[in-house]
Amino acid sequence: MKNNYHTHTTYCDGKEEMSQMVERAIYLGFNHLGFSSHAPIEKDNNFSIKEEKIPDYIKEIEFHQVHNPNIQLFKGLECDFIPGLTKPFTYFKDTYKLDFIIGGIHLVNSGIDNQLWFIDGSKQQIYDDGLAQLFQNNIKKAVTCFWEQTFEMIETQPFDIIAHIDKIKMHNRGRFFKEEEPWYKDLVIKAIDLLYHKNRIVEINSRGLYKKRCDHFYPSDFIIQKVAKKGIPMVISSDAHKSEELDLFYNEAVAKLKQFGISNVVYWSSDGWKETAI
Ligand SMILES: [Zn+2]
Ligand SMILES: [Zn+2]
Repeated sequence: MKNNYHTHTTYCDGKEEMSQMVERAIYLGFNHLGFSSHAPIEKDNNFSIKEEKIPDYIKEIEFHQVHNPNIQLFKGLECDFIPGLTKPFTYFKDTYKLDFIIGGIHLVNSGIDNQLWFIDGSKQQIYDDGLAQLFQNNIKKAVTCFWEQTFEMIETQPFDIIAHIDKIKMHNRGRFFKEEEPWYKDLVIKAIDLLYHKNRIVEINSRGLYKKRCDHFYPSDFIIQKVAKKGIPMVISSDAHKSEELDLFYNEAVAKLKQFGISNVVYWSSDGWKETAI
């Protein structure tokens, strides 16, 4: 099987229509395609779907389900978790009868007047400015804040797949901290333990590579190794925002998983997540 559950469209910050994504996914031989618009957050932004648009989004997925028997399409959202600011993930899952939820952190709550540190996007300067203004360039404090928000999401929110678990490294580019530092490794290990106990799925996400914002997959090799050791289920995600991105680094992701002895990923079925060989 060839599947991807992490897909954006013009309903959020994706650059192409849902129909273009479906067409290309069929052309590329995907069996499953899951849509995962960024869920609305209680803060003005230019990346998430508007809540009033979600019913149209769901209807359009259902339309393509009926008209495209050659591919299975699924309803999801990529939900941000920001303590004190975002709605519970169950609200979206229940209100819109979603098949799955991807949980992820793009905005870190600094704890000062709910000011948020944006760690994603194309601009390194925004990351650097947030680090300076909200954390006085204390990288350990800032990165710990990201991981503690991740822990709280895993502990308090029900979701299926964790999005780009170590996104925090993206704009770092080895400048402020090294992933080998023990304090960083300890944070990663805690997240992996929590994911294991909550039976969540970790994605190998290629977006950083094909956008050339990162030299490695999310997550980095040492994390994939830990995920493999624990037997935590995985999926391969392109996090595509354009149809041409749908299978970028797909084969490399398969090779990377195999390198760490992972021979199965999971796929969504009406009976829940099941294993399939890669
Ligand atoms: Zn994301
Ligand atoms: Zn995404």
